[in-house]
Amino acid sequence: MWTILFDIDGTLIRTQGVGMGAMGQTIRELYGDVNVPDISVHGRTDRGIIGEIFETLQMPLKGDIASFYRAYCKRLEAWIVNSEGYTLPGVEPVLEILDQDPDVALGILTGNVRRAAEIKLDRFGLREYFHFGGYGDEHADRNDVASAAWVSARNYLGKKFDPEKIWVIGDTRNDVRCARSINAKALAVETGGESSELLATSGPDMQLKNLERADAWLDTLKSPNRLKQYR
Ligand SMILES: [Mg+2]
Repeated sequence: MWTILFDIDGTLIRTQGVGMGAMGQTIRELYGDVNVPDISVHGRTDRGIIGEIFETLQMPLKGDIASFYRAYCKRLEAWIVNSEGYTLPGVEPVLEILDQDPDVALGILTGNVRRAAEIKLDRFGLREYFHFGGYGDEHADRNDVASAAWVSARNYLGKKFDPEKIWVIGDTRNDVRCARSINAKALAVETGGESSELLATSGPDMQLKNLERADAWLDTLKSPNRLKQYR
């Protein structure tokens, strides 16, 4: 059976900055009127992003990280309702097809903390498609999130799990890099924060403008011997 692990932001959906907005507001709420640094977030984990923000601010985190996550997720949940986010092109038809495929199991591989991932997927009606995953609560390095997703898939699928049959679908070079760290194939989509040229430097097995026109490429996920046509 094939395991397909999807990134969330820039791959399934765009939230138009609601996540970082909610995180910045949470920091200001808990720490007063600090200047939250504008750091690069593409392909990063929430744990890594928060770590860098507090390092840049030269402030220690008050209390434990779990209570920070709770405050952040509460705000995210309130803000995302009226956000101008959207599901990316082709995502819903592809998930619908894969969901019906008895040879495929779908999971999440995201830098979002688990609760934030659930909030984002719920907002766009996508949560039901995914049964396991790796999240950014504990790990600053996406490769560690990939390992967690691998273990989660194996636990969920049991004997049906095949470590030789894993795809990671994401919108950044970090997604491709973490796919390699678990010996997975990588599909890069140009719907997120990185240019097609930059994405190509990471050497994904497949690279697509977006997830539309699934009839032209979806079969290749299960028949990687056809991959050369995409190189
Ligand atoms: Mg992403």
